[in-house]
Amino acid sequence: FSAKMNTSVLPPPAARVAVALGDRSYDILIGPDLIATAGARIAQLRPGAGAFIVTDAHVGALWLAPLEASLEQAGVRFSRIILPPGESTKDFAHFQQLCEAALEARIERGDLLVALGGGVIGDLTGFAAASLRRGMNFVQIPTTVLSQVDSSVGGKTGINTAQGKNLVGAFHQPALVLADTGALATLPPREFAAGYAEIVKYGLIDRPEFFDWLEKHWPAVFGRGPELEYAIAVSCESKAAVVARDETEQGDRALLNLGHTFGHALEKIVGYDSSRLVHGEGVAVGMACAFRFSARQGLCPEGAAARVEAHLRAVGLPTRIPQALGGAGDAQEILAVMAQDKKVKRGALTFILARDIGQSFIARNVEVEAVRAFLEDELQ
Ligand code: NAD
Ligand code: MG
Repeated sequence: FSAKMNTSVLPPPAARVAVALGDRSYDILIGPDLIATAGARIAQLRPGAGAFIVTDAHVGALWLAPLEASLEQAGVRFSRIILPPGESTKDFAHFQQLCEAALEARIERGDLLVALGGGVIGDLTGFAAASLRRGMNFVQIPTTVLSQVDSSVGGKTGINTAQGKNLVGAFHQPALVLADTGALATLPPREFAAGYAEIVKYGLIDRPEFFDWLEKHWPAVFGRGPELEYAIAVSCESKAAVVARDETEQGDRALLNLGHTFGHALEKIVGYDSSRLVHGEGVAVGMACAFRFSARQGLCPEGAAARVEAHLRAVGLPTRIPQALGGAGDAQEILAVMAQDKKVKRGALTFILARDIGQSFIARNVEVEAVRAFLEDELQ
């Protein structure tokens, strides 16, 4: 009865995206005040369950108090751990620290882990949820654009090792995602723009009308208007649709890597130094490269590549390799890193290329020599 009363007082979210994965299905709620109502929503999701909150120091200072107030108000027991911000928190040491703190706090199998933060906190907490007591439920409260449109959708969780990024992890879907767009008010502008690159990506993969819409409405999206909620909802829907078709990346899910082969190589070359290049900036350059390369191969009209570049530049994202590397670049080095990343098979690489805006496809036999010639031209 009390759960029902909670439902009746809960305002509907601005948007709801259902991720359809059979008995692992869940909802993504999108709206401006979801942290304030998180307690009631969590109480409704798992009546009687306690919550163990994981956050980082940046996000904790801004958004932990309102989350805890809402849990308290809803009568949900909770405790928390506050980890250092940054990619280096996604490692074995913090995984251990998090698991032990949760066990110290006597979490039980029916309780929930709650990830309050960006993709780093989401990936680490999701992996802990997959492992603790052989698998617990978790709720994502993503607080960056990137985590709202990308990392909180699809169930990939994990940590980095000395050998590379995301090499240890699990597929583990959350029970609920609360994407509070109000939390994006405190996000640094550079992180906001970087996350926006992933929003553009969905338009470029298979939603040409969404790309048209972004070209017109990006100022309102950056102004954090209701258009932002719409853009996030379309992005979640796009990713959810791909994931529902291919949960564990046997095929189509690879489309989500548009811009990522070039992008990852650039990130690797700057040593994952986020003061030089943030992931989304690498993706922006990578998407511009994928379209220019497609045009050069005669696969895609030049005009489409020009539009992609113009839009990314309009919002302040980089589109050229030297911009990403802070000066010149070396075609051979970029090629070597890409080849390492993607495993060259008989002189050919796999790329996501495009026939037009919204018509991306997986190209499995891209000649290394064609990529080399492209890079040499780019770097002139
Ligand atoms: P992040 O979690 O490091 O957050 C970026 C920075 O913003 C951090 O300093 C954080 O403290 C701060 N921050 C977060 N929210 C804030 C807010 N509302 N106000 C002020 N500051 C805030 O980085 P990210 O870009 O969100 O995520 C990157 C991670 O996501 C990477 O580890 C990447 O591998 C992972 N990822 C995972 C998937 C997946 O499918 N699981 C997909 C894409 C990326
Ligand atoms: Mg990405």
